[in-house]
Amino acid sequence: MSHPDAELVESKETVAKETSASEIAGQGSGAEWLSRYSSSLMGVFGTPQRVLVRGAGCLVWDADGKEYLDLLGGIAVNAMGHAHPFVTSVIASQLATLGHVSNFFTSPTQIALAEKLLALTKAPVGSKVFFANSGTEANEAAFKLARRNSSGNRTKIIALEGAFHGRTMGALALTAKEAYRTPFEPLPGGVVHIPFGDIEALRAAVDDSTAAVFLEPIQGEAGVRPLSTEYLQAAREACTAAGALLILDEVQTGIGRTGKWLASEDAGIVPDAITLAKGLGGGFPVGALITFGEATSSLLSAGQHGTTFGGNPVATAAALATLHAIENQGVLENVRTVGAFLREGLAKIDGVTEVRGEGLLIGFDLDADVAPAVVQAGLDAGFIVNSPGPRTIRLAPPLILSTEQAGLFLAALPQLIQTAKESQ
Ligand SMILES: *Cc1c(COP(=O)(O)O)cnc(C)c1O
Repeated sequence: MSHPDAELVESKETVAKETSASEIAGQGSGAEWLSRYSSSLMGVFGTPQRVLVRGAGCLVWDADGKEYLDLLGGIAVNAMGHAHPFVTSVIASQLATLGHVSNFFTSPTQIALAEKLLALTKAPVGSKVFFANSGTEANEAAFKLARRNSSGNRTKIIALEGAFHGRTMGALALTAKEAYRTPFEPLPGGVVHIPFGDIEALRAAVDDSTAAVFLEPIQGEAGVRPLSTEYLQAAREACTAAGALLILDEVQTGIGRTGKWLASEDAGIVPDAITLAKGLGGGFPVGALITFGEATSSLLSAGQHGTTFGGNPVATAAALATLHAIENQGVLENVRTVGAFLREGLAKIDGVTEVRGEGLLIGFDLDADVAPAVVQAGLDAGFIVNSPGPRTIRLAPPLILSTEQAGLFLAALPQLIQTAKESQ
């Protein structure tokens, strides 16, 4: 049986001729757009810093034509930079072939991506993947997974002080920051926050009422604070002994960000689950929960979780293309080289007191509370960076940042710090 819709296809082509999103949206200066923004967008993000209209590689341009070196990469998202030709063409061709199907169906890109993630994370037999659309959703799925540990008979979930796991109610319960949590209480119960990096506190907290321990191998939002290998290993031991799940939130640290596929790789531990998002789709919204081993993978059964968009053909094609590009274009090595170059350079700059992180997830502290002013000075000078704290700057650029581009920032930074201090 065939369903002829040639007429429809034809009229679609007529409409498509010479129509781009920017033609539909219209033109304007940065100031004009921002005034329209404040009358139409909810204020949860404050006032956006700039209106960005175009990107290529590690560069972006704003509505007034100004160019920026993007050292934030959409907060660790634009793994292959902006408008990467290969990633873009894979997404466009998938969208032009099959854009969306419900989860009553599957598609080859969804299955291939699940297999690829299991291979890259060296997941044992019986490991499985659930696709979501964001980091918070991946953690929300992990939270429900934890609730099913011991048939739901465990009530305690442990997370760390400084943790950021997302903004939906379950993930928010795992997130530590009071300002994010308090307005929305009561949050899902049972979550306990313990001091960061304190192995004894962890051992004392994990007991046979513990469903799961959630850890970020490097806390990104808290200013790029790494957990030690010993800590991750101790967490694995304590969880195994107590029957608790060890769940690693690699939403920010995963997919090559640290010069490895996973930041937790070197610890040599097998977690019970990992969550991924940010860099996974290379700019396209994709999240994933990976459960390790048959026992953990079967905790959520048919009907116990779901999503309309998760695992969509275009999103999974975007992730497949991103992983393929990272794997075949020497990207992990570039992350290690350029990351080391940046950290060494930063450590030598006057006013920089500490440099943390791995690969191209870098946090550095300043000798005064001028980080937000450095962000402003950076924008004026054509650099995009972020300040997760009053004296902390975070860099999470595209993984394809060149040494030369990193050098431009290092050369400019002393003046940015100077300008920031003068503006106080
Ligand atoms: C960004 C982030 C999240 C939340 O991801 P969203 O896509 O913003 O929901 C969760 N965990 C970590 C570690 C993150 O960095």
